[in-house]
Amino acid sequence: MTDEAIPNLPEFNDAALDQAFAALEAQARQAAAALNSESAVEAFKLEWLGRKQGRLNEISGRWLKAAPAEAKKALGVRFNALKGVVEELLEAALGSGPSNAALQAEALDITLPGTRRLLGAEHPITRTMNEIVGVFAALGYSVGVGPEVETDFYNFESMNFPPGHPARDEQDTLVIAGQERRPLRDRLLLRTHTSPVQMRTMEQQPPPVRVVIPGKVHRNDAADATHSPIFHQVEGLCVDTNITFSDLKGTLDHAMKALFGSAVKTRFFPSFFPFTEPSADVQISCIFCGGKGCRKCKQSGWIELLGCGMVDPAVFAFAAEKQPAYDSRKISGFAFGMGVDRIAMMKYGIREIGSLFAGDMRFLGQFT
Ligand SMILES: [Zn+2]
Repeated sequence: MTDEAIPNLPEFNDAALDQAFAALEAQARQAAAALNSESAVEAFKLEWLGRKQGRLNEISGRWLKAAPAEAKKALGVRFNALKGVVEELLEAALGSGPSNAALQAEALDITLPGTRRLLGAEHPITRTMNEIVGVFAALGYSVGVGPEVETDFYNFESMNFPPGHPARDEQDTLVIAGQERRPLRDRLLLRTHTSPVQMRTMEQQPPPVRVVIPGKVHRNDAADATHSPIFHQVEGLCVDTNITFSDLKGTLDHAMKALFGSAVKTRFFPSFFPFTEPSADVQISCIFCGGKGCRKCKQSGWIELLGCGMVDPAVFAFAAEKQPAYDSRKISGFAFGMGVDRIAMMKYGIREIGSLFAGDMRFLGQFT
């Protein structure tokens, strides 16, 4: 604050005016130099430019009024110059901002590299599953999903594995504990294949049906290089009038060429599955040696990849309980299934199925 009050002007000649205004300017500069906080700047502004009690207001009020007419112009010029100086000082004080020390304390080095987030990528299983589904989607198949915890009815009985059937032994099953009091068909288990979704689909929609079912399945298998208690399947089901084994062969031959390249050949061998009759195993010509014979195909030139067959009339009979249109005298269909993990291992040269599920980023990072 400036302590000195505004004096009365004894004379109004140029020399007296110069002296008086120079003194005021010196006071203003001195006060401005001492400003060190926002509130001090605000006080300075009020003291000099305040509308009622401001020093400039007082000067114009007292000096200008007292000045004789011939001195008014000279006084006005000096007054405006002083006002300009005060305003400049105030502007400088307002614009100065935080101190250098404060600025340095919060300084950022914008040339430092930022935090880099890891790029996400599809897991090789997901990628392979999507590729397979994509091939069938292009043929007009829709995608079906269902629960992983399934009833004995959907997983076994409706797929033509009657209670006590020896085929049940081939699928060593993980069952939910504490189910003994329930009827067998209602007991819960971890599904051993995606086939229950075939039945669930047929129960919900009459033929024609074209559906692929990708999903996770569980069996009580001891883990080794090619077995895991968790693995993945894609199954397919096609039901319509006049569906024949030729349709099955043509569809799978096309799908294998779409997945592994147009040079791939397929061949079909008689096999057995409870839910298809007749049933077949499908082999493709070895994708590593082109059929000449190598270590991967055990010198045979062929790799076994799929199971398939014409849907067993007994399966249609279960579907017909809810959808009478599944009358095996009027419609027919085929089904097929393949292991996604095995195909992914073949495609990407993975030796241990366990590395697909270990969550090791050094392994998974190779697929980004
Ligand atoms: Zn081979």
